[in-house]
This record gives sequence, C-alpha cells and structure tokens, in this order.
Amino acid sequence: MTDVAPAGRFYLEQLGCPKNLVDGENMAEILKSRGYVEVSSPDEADTIIVNTCGFIQRAADESVAALRGHAATRRRGQRLIATGCLAQRWGDRLTAAVPGIDGMLGAMRWGEIDRLLEAVRAGVRPKWLGAGAVDPSPGRVARGPSTYLKIADGCDHTCAFCAIPLIKGKHRSKPIERIIVEARQLAARGVREIVLVSQDSSGYGKDFAMRDGLAEMLDRLVAAVPQIPWVRVMYVYPGTVTDRLIETFARHPQIVKYVDMPLQHADRDVLRRMRRPTVDALDLIRRFRAAIPDLALRSTFIVGFPGETEREFASLLEFFGSAQLDRVGVFTYSAEAGTLAATAASQVRERVKERRYRRAMETLQAISIERNRLQIGRTLPVLIEGAVEDGDGDYQAIGRTYRDAPEVDGLVFVRGTAAIGEIVPVRIDDAMAYDLVGTVAGADAGGRLAAPLNGRLPLTVLPARASI
Ligand code: SF4
Repeated sequence: MTDVAPAGRFYLEQLGCPKNLVDGENMAEILKSRGYVEVSSPDEADTIIVNTCGFIQRAADESVAALRGHAATRRRGQRLIATGCLAQRWGDRLTAAVPGIDGMLGAMRWGEIDRLLEAVRAGVRPKWLGAGAVDPSPGRVARGPSTYLKIADGCDHTCAFCAIPLIKGKHRSKPIERIIVEARQLAARGVREIVLVSQDSSGYGKDFAMRDGLAEMLDRLVAAVPQIPWVRVMYVYPGTVTDRLIETFARHPQIVKYVDMPLQHADRDVLRRMRRPTVDALDLIRRFRAAIPDLALRSTFIVGFPGETEREFASLLEFFGSAQLDRVGVFTYSAEAGTLAATAASQVRERVKERRYRRAMETLQAISIERNRLQIGRTLPVLIEGAVEDGDGDYQAIGRTYRDAPEVDGLVFVRGTAAIGEIVPVRIDDAMAYDLVGTVAGADAGGRLAAPLNGRLPLTVLPARASI
C-alpha cells in the first residue's frame, strides 16, 4: 500500500508559453510545500489542475479540450481546477464551456493555489480571477539542466492583436535581489542554463525608474552566478533596444549569443496598424551582428493581420531574404476578443492566411537549412538534455547549442559519450532544416551515450515544435 499524502495528490497539466509554465511550476512548489504530492498521471490524483493558455484561439481550444477530456474521464470525487491565462480571460465563459470545473484561478493569482484547493476541498467552488497576490517568490526547482526564470510579468504596450495586457495587466518587474536569490537556488541545484522570460524583457526595470534596466540586471546577475554557464534572454522588444543592451550581450561570456526579438511584421504600414514600433529592423539586426560575432537571431511574425495586402505580405517575404534570421516562428493572425484588431472590418480570409503561412514557411525553411549548413564542420558547445532510444536498447544523446532556445528551436543529435547536464564540445557533421547531427569531439562516430541517466537530472521531455 502506498502512503497517503496528508494534503492530497495533484496532477498538473501545463499548457502555453514559458511564462505560463513558470507560473505552473511555482504553483506546484507551493502545493508541495503545503504537503501535497505531485503525481505523474491524472489517475493517481485527487485534484487535476490544468494550467491553461488563452493567448490565441488555437491555444484556447487546446485548453478547453484538455479540460473537457479530464472532465469526461475523471473518477468520482476527483476535483478539476482551471488556472492560467484562459481562466483569467474567460471566467464564466470557461465554466460554461466545460461543465464540472470545481475551481478557477486567474493567471495573476497563481500564488493563491493552496488557498483555492483548500476552499474546493471544503466544498465551495471559488473563482479567483483578476488582480491579486502577484509573484510571491517560492523559489524554483530545476526539472532538467535548463530552466526558466521569470524576470517580469504583464505588459504596458498596446499591440493591436494582443490580449496579453488584458490577461496579465501592467508590466511589473521582479526586483534584482529576488532574481539573484532564485538564480542562486537554481545554481545550487545543478542548473546549467537559465532562460530569462517575461512579456517584455527589454522593459525590465522601467517600473523601478531604471534606465537600461535589463542591461544593469544582467551585469549583476551574471556576476552573482558565475557557476551558471548559460544565461539566455527571451522576448526583447525591438522599440527599446539600446546600445548599452547590445554591448552587455556582447561583453558577458555567460550570456549566450542569442537574441530573441519578436518583430511581428516588416512592412511599416502593417506595423503601424499593429501599433508596433516602426524601427529599422534591418539596421537593428546589423548592429546586433556587428557587435556579437556568431549571433543567433530569433524572431516571430504574424501573417494575415487585418488589411494585410499582397504587397505588404511580399515585403515581409523580401525582409526574410534580407534579414537571414536563424530561427523564426510564424503564426496566422487570430482575432482575440477585446483587442483593437479584432474589430477591424478588413479581416483577411482564412484561406488567404493559410496560403501566406505556407509561403512564409517555405521561404524560411530554405533559409533555415542554409544557415544550419553553415554550422557543419564547426565544433560547438552542446548542453546535453536527454536521450532517445534507437530501438536496439542503445541511447543517443540529445542537446542544444547556444543557437537554440528550449522548446521553440532545434536540437542536436549527438554521437559519443556525454551525461545529461554536461556541456560538451560537439563537431557538427550534418544539418537538417531545424536540427543538427554531431559527434562529441574526440569520440568515435559510432559511440553511444555512456551514462544516459546519471540519476541527478530527469530526462527532458522534448515537445513538438510549431515553428523554426
Ligand atoms: S509587447 Fe505587444 S505582443 Fe508583446 S505582450 Fe506586450 S502587447 Fe502583447
């Protein structure tokens, strides 16, 4: 007979972006600190928590489907909780869409998950949405050699397509001291890569009246955790990149030479309608590349924004050719309730959006293959994160170079001996559209992962990618 958890067992299903995953992990930590036990399958749980995403319609559909699935298959007495962005955004609409939800917690109140569960156990059906207890600092547990660390939440921008400010509220930075405490905890647990996330990372510190707040925070952070070899920054807003920020990225060996700068479009008229900065993106990219040799640049774009003409779309394709970005995510526009663009009369037909998406992806795939091939013959440090079985009981290691962020970019399939959590030099032998194949420098080409699981870190789950 297994022990009975004093407070109960919970199963957490995580959906959505890295920022949501961080909230989910923090909720799990709060519950565990209150005596709950996390289990790995819904069958074993008293409480099923779905940490939903409501960023775009497709994500909302996925969250609703997950909740309905659990509502249909759960045991008698099992409780179902919806947390995260979709709960925040939809409120009663979500309980109408999924009968049987026992409690809801909005994305801005994840710190109250323990109180919510207690209330549900006591037989009430609370809905705690809207502003509330934000960002308590429960610390973070590493689930692999790489982990996310949230540096801010919310957003002050007013992009016409985006519901995030409605869901997350105003930009709020986490104090530097707290970021450093959390980073040190992660370092003590053996984490090798910290991925800093927020909605607007280059806006870090503006609510503390800091100038160049992200650059200052990075200076202090890397000095505080010299034992963490890779610090990666996601979501740099193109309108607030300064020379000091570029210089800071260039100066610190710990900051990986990777910039994630969502541009959303390249045509100035579309950018204006999107209420996005109309900076000269090619010039910005040139400045980054001039300061940081071997920089990997990632961006995301939306096709089919209301009113997007063939000419405007063509200028986006032309931009792809000029910018030669290393990694790109493309999304078709989806009208999100409450946003300015959703009410525009000039919505682009779905068929047109899909056609443009395919054309954009074809163009980008050709660029991606070319840029990946440039890596063949180079020896790059690779962070080993997991292993795949090859069918004969042998394992092949899987990792990432600095050029790839977790979950959204490519992988390296590695021959040779390496342990999870190690950063090893890998000679790149072959390149595919998104992924690379390589051999640990000095190893036999036919070698296998000698110590696939060293007991310290679990295998990283490698999700499907929706973008390049
Ligand atoms: S910068 Fe724009 S797209 Fe990004 S979260 Fe803020 S409003 Fe949304």
